[in-house]
Amino acid sequence: MKKKFLSILLAVSMLLMALPTSSSAYVLIGGRIAIVGNMIPSANFTSATITHMGQMFNLWNNAAGKTLMTISSSRHYDDDTSANYRSHAAMYDKQHKTYREERGEYSAVGQMYGTRVTDFWLGTKIESADILINMQYSFANSAQPNRYDTATVFLHEAGHALGLGESNLQSFQSIMHQQMFMNVERRYLYQDDINAIKAKNY
Ligand SMILES: [Zn+2]
Repeated sequence: MKKKFLSILLAVSMLLMALPTSSSAYVLIGGRIAIVGNMIPSANFTSATITHMGQMFNLWNNAAGKTLMTISSSRHYDDDTSANYRSHAAMYDKQHKTYREERGEYSAVGQMYGTRVTDFWLGTKIESADILINMQYSFANSAQPNRYDTATVFLHEAGHALGLGESNLQSFQSIMHQQMFMNVERRYLYQDDINAIKAKNY
């Protein structure tokens, strides 16, 4: 009974956190990153792509005024296209990883899967944040016809990993809008994104 009450409280508080304030369009989702400073990329990404990932995290770090996440010098070999990713053991490994996986045409270009824990003193924490690049689609390390710029997709997913939701603004007013375009390179944050990460109050 006690447990049920707690889960309802948690659901209500997460709902409140998801409501944008009247003066802004960004959306904050529950929790803040718990393990700061280390996202491990798949060894299957090129070194150029991995370098870009670090640069994209630095955009968020600079906006937040502190280092929230960097790209690890380690590499993992855990890409898995055989199973439903949601049952992937790596989701619960308390590490942050970037995956390069074929997820099919019904999955998004990029996805972020996180696990959250609630600490009695510290509140909700994102304990594991995994960013998945769907190789069903074609990517490039720049703006190219019929391809997505990997860094642009990664910048959006990195925002999710740091606790931001989809922005209510139009795509070209926020990197956190859910729509991505091919042949477009947007490796910068908009004012709404900067406001969002500041509001996160890391
Ligand atoms: Zn998104």
